[in-house]
Amino acid sequence: MIECQQSLRLGAYLDGQMSPQERSNMQEHLALCAACVSELERLERLSDLLRSMPRAELDRAALARLHRWADRLPQRGALRLAETLAAVAAAVLVACCVGLAEQASLSAAQGPSPLWEAQAISQTAADQAGSSEEQLAMWLADDLSGKARP
Ligand SMILES: [Zn+2]
Repeated sequence: MIECQQSLRLGAYLDGQMSPQERSNMQEHLALCAACVSELERLERLSDLLRSMPRAELDRAALARLHRWADRLPQRGALRLAETLAAVAAAVLVACCVGLAEQASLSAAQGPSPLWEAQAISQTAADQAGSSEEQLAMWLADDLSGKARP
């Protein structure tokens, strides 16, 4: 996350969701703000990555079953429709997560993680290493003395 407030509007700019005047203003801002240019490039890479993901598709037999099922819907009720749509949405989500995980493992194999990521991980590990035993001892002491119980 960058500090420039204009960065909050980069998604709308990238998606073509701005009026011509807003778009012109953003282009003027981008000529002056390196942070927003960098963020815009990051958003474009993310957008390209999502576009390149394979889409989940149903085979003909499954599609035919879905159509037959949908034709009988009035007798089955809206709850069943909601359950089925939720199941389809969950399947699509799982497919996307698997794809993203594969992309993440590919990019992890391609090189070192960004500096901020390495610092965040090492900082967390350092925090936990120093205090986890002390914290555990305090929880045990509290638990044995009955302090932790309501
Ligand atoms: Zn900016």
